[in-house]
Amino acid sequence: MNFWGFNISETRSINYDTNDKGMMEYVAKEVPSSKLCIGCGGCTAGCTAGNLTDFNIRKIQMLMKRGEYKEAREQLHKCMLCGKCMLVCPRGVETRKMILVMENYIKNNSK
Ligand code: SF4
Ligand code: SF4
Repeated sequence: MNFWGFNISETRSINYDTNDKGMMEYVAKEVPSSKLCIGCGGCTAGCTAGNLTDFNIRKIQMLMKRGEYKEAREQLHKCMLCGKCMLVCPRGVETRKMILVMENYIKNNSK
């Protein structure tokens, strides 16, 4: 619908009750430190892959927690597993291990 040159955006709702939380639960079990993330973005700021591509590890973590895996499936292979994100994380999140566990989940659950 168009009103005076403006469009009304589609409703963007996230339904935590119906979204698939399988990956989040698997990652939380295998990497308990993943639950400590406060979303500060420090990992993304210094990320080697993020400096060269559109890879964003903070965003991928956030989407995973929402049960939205499409971007994670498309992007995770860009991570170089250098571990810089772990060194800067103020909460001690084992991000490198988390990425490996996410890749493992995707590999075992891809249709
Ligand atoms: S640096 Fe650590 S706490 Fe901050 S967003 Fe990244 S994983 Fe989360
Ligand atoms: S391990 Fe991956 S996510 Fe972490 S800084 Fe290196 S390239 Fe970025």
